[in-house]
Formats: sequence, structure tokens, C-alpha cells
Amino acid sequence: MNGRRLLIIAATGNAHKLEEFRSIFSGCFQECAAEVISQKQAGEIAGKVYISPDETGASFAENAFIKSSSLERFMLENAALSEYAASFRAVCVTADDSGLCVDALGGAPGIYSARYASAPGSDIDASDDANVDKLLSEMKNVPDAERTAAFHCHISAIMRFGDKLDSRVRVETCGSLEGKIAYERRGNGGFGYDPVMLLPGAGKTVAELAAAEKNRISHRGKALRSAAGELYGSFAKLS
Ligand code: IMP
Repeated sequence: MNGRRLLIIAATGNAHKLEEFRSIFSGCFQECAAEVISQKQAGEIAGKVYISPDETGASFAENAFIKSSSLERFMLENAALSEYAASFRAVCVTADDSGLCVDALGGAPGIYSARYASAPGSDIDASDDANVDKLLSEMKNVPDAERTAAFHCHISAIMRFGDKLDSRVRVETCGSLEGKIAYERRGNGGFGYDPVMLLPGAGKTVAELAAAEKNRISHRGKALRSAAGELYGSFAKLS
């Protein structure tokens, strides 16, 4: 068993989220030499393609737990992946469910943010461009004072340790970022609704921030850092 090493498996198929996971976690787990791999890489170690579960929950919290527990099950049911994970001091499956809640739209698109512009009832994500076009069109007659919105992120993390990975710690955290919906896109950074999420204090959209600045203030940055704090506390007790 490797002394102080922690394996983190990021339960996301979204390349932008994965990049943010890596960058935010790299600042949190320096002392325990954490390695972050994606669910796709976990599938490659298992020799089997990992298929993300359907997001059937009624809240960000429920969907995040559906994602973390599904990948945890996949890990425990695959000998090669379990063996790889058990060679670390602990393994932590970490999932994010997030989205944009717009006050003037009664909290929509909310948990349906990725599928906002898809056909009603569809479980297939629409493109970021199509989602933003739909949002701008729904908001075109909404006055400035009523354009308030917030990004929300729920993190569900399950840490497993012990020779047979039979001990378990579960951590749930959340974070949010408030702003206003702009009248048009601005900026090239980030992903999703970032080009139309205006931060009135900064006078910029989230897409106009440098990546490190977004991670410092974002819903995902806040939720991941508080999850990392709790996980590190549990991990440190193992050492
Ligand atoms: P999920 O992958 O089911 O959690 O869907 C998340 C969706 O919410 C993404 O596809 C984006 O549309 C939106 N979203 C979540 N976080 C962000 C963010 O940091 N910036 C912009 N859009 C986001």
C-alpha cells in the first residue's frame, strides 16, 4: 500500500468540469500526493467503458449522489479497478451536479441546465450554444432588476479505504455564485452559461474571468474546497 497517496476519481464526462476539478483539487491535496483520474480513465483501467447513470433525481444533491454511488459501484464490481484503487491509501469518488437557477424563470433551468434546449422530456444534453440561445430568448423582455440568477453546485464524494476498500466516508457539500443574466454573450473562457452570467461587482461575465479567478469564486470552487477540507480531515486520520 502506498503511504500517503490518495486516488480521486472524478465522476464527470464533462471535460471543462474535469479541468476545474483538477485545478481546484491540486491546491487542496498537495500534502497527500493525490492523483486525479476521470471516470473515462477509470473505465480504461477496468477494461470496460463506464456509462454515466441517468440523472433521475429531483435535486442537485440527489443527482450528485446518483453519480458518485454509481461510479463507486462500478469500481467495487471491477476487479482490476478495485485492485488499482486498493493500492492507494484511500480512493475518493467525487461527483458534481450543477446548474443555473434564474429567478425570473422560477428557478429554471435548474437541474435541467444541460438539457434546457433539448426536446421536452429528452435525457440528451443540448449544446452550450443552444442552451444560451434559449435562455437569452426567454429573458429578452425581462428588465434589468429582475435578471438575478445563481449557479449552484452540489458535490457528493465517497471515500473508501482499507485493504478491501471496505471502510467508507461520505461527504456532501454545496456552493453557489450569484449574478445577473446579461443581454448578450461576452467572453471566451469557461463553458455552459458562463458567457451570459454577469458578475455586477466585477463588471464582467464569468467567461471573461481567467480560469484561476473563476475557480476562486465559483460555485464549484467553493463546494470542492469544502469537500476537500472534510476529506483531507478523514484521510489525515488514516496516516
Ligand atoms: P450536469 O453535468 O448535469 O451537472 O449539468 C451541468 C450544466 O449546468 C452544464 O451543462 C452547464 O450548462 C451548467 N453549468 C454548470 N456549471 C457551470 C459553470 O460553471 N458555468 C456555466 N455553466 C455551468
